[in-house]
Amino acid sequence: MSEPRISVLLPLPLAGPYDYLAPEDAPLAVGQYVVVPLGPREVRGVVWAAPSTTELTEKAEKALKTVIRVLDAPPLTQDVRNFVDWVAAYTLFPQGAVLRMVMRSGAQLTPPKPKTGYVLGKTPPQKTTEIRAKVLAAAGDVPQTAQVLAAAAGCGVGVIKGLADAGALVPVSIDPDPPYPLPDLERPGPRLSPEQNAAAEALKADVVAGGYKTTLIDGVTGSGKTEVYFEAIAAALRKDPTAQVLVLMPEIALTLQFIKRVEARFGVAPTLWHSDAGDAGRRRAWRRVADGGARIVVGARSALFLPFQNLSLIIVDEEHDSSYKQEDGVLYQARDMAVARGARKGFPVILASATPALETMINVTQGRYSAVTLPGRFGGASMPETETIDLRAAPPDKGQWLSPKLIEAVDETLDRGEQAMLFLNRRGYAPLTICRKCGHRLTAPHSDTWLVEHRYENKLVCHHTGFSMPKPKHCPACGAEDSLAACGPGVERVGEEAKARWPDRRVAVFSSDTVQAPGEVKGLLADMAAGRIDILIATQIAAKGHHFPNLTLIGVVDADLGLSGGDLRAGERTYQLLNQVAGRAGRAEKKGRALLQTYQPNHPVMRALISGDRDTFLAQEAEGREMLGFPPYGRLAAVILTGEKEDQVRAAAQTLAKAAPHAKDVEVWGPAPAPIARLRGRTRMRFLVKAARTVNLQAFLTAWRADVKTPSSVRVAVDVDPYSFL
Ligand code: ADP
Repeated sequence: MSEPRISVLLPLPLAGPYDYLAPEDAPLAVGQYVVVPLGPREVRGVVWAAPSTTELTEKAEKALKTVIRVLDAPPLTQDVRNFVDWVAAYTLFPQGAVLRMVMRSGAQLTPPKPKTGYVLGKTPPQKTTEIRAKVLAAAGDVPQTAQVLAAAAGCGVGVIKGLADAGALVPVSIDPDPPYPLPDLERPGPRLSPEQNAAAEALKADVVAGGYKTTLIDGVTGSGKTEVYFEAIAAALRKDPTAQVLVLMPEIALTLQFIKRVEARFGVAPTLWHSDAGDAGRRRAWRRVADGGARIVVGARSALFLPFQNLSLIIVDEEHDSSYKQEDGVLYQARDMAVARGARKGFPVILASATPALETMINVTQGRYSAVTLPGRFGGASMPETETIDLRAAPPDKGQWLSPKLIEAVDETLDRGEQAMLFLNRRGYAPLTICRKCGHRLTAPHSDTWLVEHRYENKLVCHHTGFSMPKPKHCPACGAEDSLAACGPGVERVGEEAKARWPDRRVAVFSSDTVQAPGEVKGLLADMAAGRIDILIATQIAAKGHHFPNLTLIGVVDADLGLSGGDLRAGERTYQLLNQVAGRAGRAEKKGRALLQTYQPNHPVMRALISGDRDTFLAQEAEGREMLGFPPYGRLAAVILTGEKEDQVRAAAQTLAKAAPHAKDVEVWGPAPAPIARLRGRTRMRFLVKAARTVNLQAFLTAWRADVKTPSSVRVAVDVDPYSFL
């Protein structure tokens, strides 16, 4: 009898799982990680069905290869496998591409080799030397490696081995991925205010009742949203001793301050999942999430694809944040996928924000989500007073970016011994470099993206492709000498202006380019918190999570920055960002103030920021979207074609355009050159598909693409629910 046939999903962009024969000696279960042959290679994958139900021809059956070996890692649960299938079906990416986000590099699938450590034995050595005595003094009940003990005593590892042979030290095996200590659920939380308490009780009741439900915690920055969802976490962990909880955050909000708060509340740090965790840190986190040992997991959007054993609650903090949309590889919106995950497995999902996304607010209004509200800042700290500065009436001096009114406000603030922050969400010195002689604009090679001057590093950098070069002395187009001029401001330029204007004040610039090493970031934040900086010039890196008690003035250098361009969420995003930035002022007892430099003081976004009337603003935005049938009233998908040869991309786009099926309540717009029409030598064209909510957009897109053969030189990417329109 032939061996049972199983199907294995590989973390590759293939059409679906492939069939293999199970090895003779090992019965295989669904979810197990295995190594299989693929052509000449050995590839890791996951058993997706056992036995396989695929119909095979006799020839294919004969050609089947056998699984090479089974890997020693906790099998992928049905919940995660279902989630992979669902995300693939929703985003129209291959299942294997989604599985890849779960399996990562695969390096963590091989358990690390245990290390040997030594503890103090019962027999003292017969022969003692000074060095041996030092080693024994350093040893104890906690196992330490020979290297660590040798370093402590200043000797070679031979001495340790000698003591072990003599029985004075006892070797024990050390787990390189030790379990995480368990949260202490008996620790009391803070005394909640009556409003906080009501919100926490509602969330706890949902957790205890079990089942799916999405709830928004709607409250201004500092109202205690975090304290409130900590109570829901405690309830979930108490209810089920195997429950795991995931807190998703934008990467830049994942601060040490937040981790310390988890520690203060639960007695242990959370399991962290983020980009600088390092290979060993990631392996430990991944394996402990997989075996259920990590109970509170905190991470950026990719943490949603960790192989949880028993995920029981997800919190999406700053749920409106645009970083939840992944813009390369599998294109997905982590907040929406988190809700889908809760709905499929049947557990509560909590979204928290001071400026909820319009989509979320409409889901609340229409009853799909519920909401709890926290009305004010905790402890009576008040929201900053926000005003606009009309740049048409009182502009800055020529070549400068700070208006007289803003300068005056900074002076007053500093004279009171308080701090000011000047906010400009643009890195570098100037966004555009132009030749004064011929008007040439410097762009990245084979791209039509501008080069941004970074004066600290004396470089021109493209923020889209990462290309950089030293600033040339001659114009690359006309050859004129010293003719290249910086146009417009970036934080570095505003920093230069502030240093010239306030030479006796301590001015610092904070952006991801000017401060890079984690140590530097920590130092700068500590300096700011301790009042060792008077004026901080910052991009959005400073907008989130930080608490500066003596910061009382925020000056927004260009409040109009995000409003131009054809992005349907431009107004909403500008409102969210500026609201958050303004919220940095006056977080302690002192009253805060935010001044917005704008050419459009009557723009609905500015009016909403001044009045604090968020809901009227959102209602207006919603009306606009409803009129146009845009999300969440309608559905959107982008189809993006790229290729090295412009004529091939155009031809492929035309073929695709002709093949667009006619369907009720679906409109296909395009093809049109993308706003970034050339990037890294590739021409880019876009379609936008707009459909009514009732339409199965995925089915439409699949049917459309099934009929068209695109040459392999042209890549077609589908972005369901696009957030970027570039
Ligand atoms: P949010 O998440 O809404 O920004 P936080 O939960 O971070 O608000 O609360 C803001 C600050 O107020 C934090 O320093 C927090 O520890 C403190 N705080 C909030 N609620 C309480 C409370 N009930 N008791 C003590 N401190 C509180």
